[in-house]
Amino acid sequence: MDQAAYLFISPHLDDAVFSCGGFIRQLVLSGSRVIVATVVTADAPDELPLGWLAKRNLRSWGNQRHIFALRCAEDLAAVRHLGAETLHLGFLDCIYRRDAQQLPLYTRRVINVPLHPYDLQFFQPALETRLRELLVQAIKVVCPLTIGNHVDHLLVRQAVEAVTTARQRIYYEEFPYILRTGKHHTKWVNLSQQMIRLQPAEIEARLLASTSYRSQIPGLFPAPLDVWCEIMRAYLPVLDRYVPAEHPLWHSIKRMQTITRRHIDRVGGERYWTQPL
Ligand SMILES: [Zn+2]
Repeated sequence: MDQAAYLFISPHLDDAVFSCGGFIRQLVLSGSRVIVATVVTADAPDELPLGWLAKRNLRSWGNQRHIFALRCAEDLAAVRHLGAETLHLGFLDCIYRRDAQQLPLYTRRVINVPLHPYDLQFFQPALETRLRELLVQAIKVVCPLTIGNHVDHLLVRQAVEAVTTARQRIYYEEFPYILRTGKHHTKWVNLSQQMIRLQPAEIEARLLASTSYRSQIPGLFPAPLDVWCEIMRAYLPVLDRYVPAEHPLWHSIKRMQTITRRHIDRVGGERYWTQPL
């Protein structure tokens, strides 16, 4: 029988490695089995019409209709760098999900909006069923704290809480979203903090693994000039040809590494949260 594993639940293809890469590497080096299970990993079927949200996201990811196949490959490479195992659960991203009448569940925003009843009725129970199957081989389940209030993260946390006990769960704070929301929020009220101190080699492993998510890095770690150019293009399309194109990818990767390293230094490692027993 396989060794019981630490099961890291990643809503999207990048959340767990961007947030927990150092701890994952540390567990692997100590001989633990680690599985990184990502929930949202499927491309939309070709016949599915794309709403405004889906088109906007696909544009920012380089306009590839089958972007999730590419993102799965990025994730495989990232998790392999850490020495862990990968599982892709095959759910559709919120930008693609539709109700029985084929209307998009979310039309303009996916952050700080109420969960759609259709998601609560279908997505969450389906995810709970899948998670129950995985729990058989898990000693601990490491799930998102939902910093940033993204609907997919909220559904994942609720599903994990529905199928696990407090003793099994560890919460991670999502990076880089933790940088934008500040430290004054209530997600960790009533939870106990666990600091994981990292060796230099574990920090380097997290940085190297994070570098694999090339389709996501420019959007998640934009330079101030890129943000300004994006705003100019959105409001004054006529200026499009005069506004410089985005920085090359290697600039974004360097910025991601600098920001990540600075955050780990400031925090003193990676912070996790558990429920007091
Ligand atoms: Zn995410």
